[in-house]
Amino acid sequence: MNKYFSFQWHITDECDQRCKHCYIFSGDKYHDLKSMTWAQMEDTFYNCLDFCEVYGRLPYFYLTGGDPILHPDFWRLLALFKEHNVPFTVMGNPFHLNDQVCREMKYYGCEKYQLSLDGLRETHDWFRKSGSFDCTIEKIGCINRSGMRSVIMTTVSKTNRMEVPGIIDAVVASGANVFAFSRYVPSGGDLDASMTPREYRELLAICDKKFKEYEAEGAETYFNKKDHLWTLYEYETGAFKIPADAK
Ligand code: SF4
Repeated sequence: MNKYFSFQWHITDECDQRCKHCYIFSGDKYHDLKSMTWAQMEDTFYNCLDFCEVYGRLPYFYLTGGDPILHPDFWRLLALFKEHNVPFTVMGNPFHLNDQVCREMKYYGCEKYQLSLDGLRETHDWFRKSGSFDCTIEKIGCINRSGMRSVIMTTVSKTNRMEVPGIIDAVVASGANVFAFSRYVPSGGDLDASMTPREYRELLAICDKKFKEYEAEGAETYFNKKDHLWTLYEYETGAFKIPADAK
């Protein structure tokens, strides 16, 4: 049995982007952007630790938002993780990363920083905002230099599925440590953005071929398949040993 129990923790709605597929900003109703208070965050953190203790598991956190770094108590929360020696990953935007910020996250115990690529430059920037693609590719270097692992996640829909092979090429060329993708989950009146089962099967075959070709070439990027419980990555469950030089 997997020794970890992972929590995906959304601490703020604040974000520099307004992605077309975002569930926070979906629908036609404006709502105030919410962030957890420090008291709520402490309470949640210790609740999670208690839960893991009761069930004999180790906690693992995926910290997200919005862009979690925009939460005023982001660094305070990281200090709490470090104090309790709890491992975590941050899933956020590239805009506030630089070498120093990445080194500090690593100091507090952040193992991975996950960024999104939702297409090649034109499509990704259409989904997210102008300049987002180039900024994302650039910040992979900051993450790698800090000693954290860089993860690129692609949300695949009918709109961008034909660009996935090109995204894989860009990810490998950028030196990202891990690539993963998942299917888009409609959150409003956008059901037509979902792939049909046949389209998804075709995409899986294309990706499988590409992954194998890159693996045969010895590419540094690890192509991840999430485990069936949608929790930890394969290499965190022990099913896969990531090469020492990719850590
Ligand atoms: S970056 Fe994430 S939180 Fe921000 S708008 Fe896009 S999907 Fe939503």
